Amino acid sequence: METQFITPSEVLEYMFCPRFVYFMSVLKIDQHEHRRHLVNKGRDIHLLKLVQNKDYLRAKIGAKDKLLDLYLSSEKYHLVGKVDEALFLEDGSAAPLDYKYAYWENRIYSTHKVQQTLYAILIEENFNLPVNKAFLVYVRSKNHLEEIAISAAMKENALDIIADVFQIVNEGSFPDAKTSTRKCEDCSYRNICVS
Ligand code: SF4
Repeated sequence: METQFITPSEVLEYMFCPRFVYFMSVLKIDQHEHRRHLVNKGRDIHLLKLVQNKDYLRAKIGAKDKLLDLYLSSEKYHLVGKVDEALFLEDGSAAPLDYKYAYWENRIYSTHKVQQTLYAILIEENFNLPVNKAFLVYVRSKNHLEEIAISAAMKENALDIIADVFQIVNEGSFPDAKTSTRKCEDCSYRNICVS
């Protein structure tokens, strides 16, 4: 049976290495939660609740309303995902806000940008509001707040990645590795991968 929906986590696995998705979702070889652990590193529900109670972050952003812990799906893009927060801003737009249990390292990783773009697409479709920015809170750096501008090109790129993931999982096509030796060393499939 064809896969109907994919999640932002699967997109992040693809960004780690397209072939990783093949082993995980086509051959269904257990990867011992290795990458998921990295994707969701340090996710702590208790801590999330404590931070979510701090309204000053939303006030700083100019949010007039919020919805927390949302499961959203898009029939159009065959995407499902859980968003920490959807913020409704004073200018009539909306934005995802995501908590990272990490230190702010003076850069926003491309995986995080794509993840937030996917959340933006989900919020845009579900609430029929424009979404052109997203927010990240780095919990281990005193809730350092970063804003990401979400452009039309970023949305197109994220949708292209979704199409690539579907091609792998539904057509079973064996993808090129497109990754670095360093990543292979950190990969739970390194012993079976022909790379
Ligand atoms: S071993 Fe390397 S090429 Fe193979 S799936 Fe893992 S990261 Fe990709």
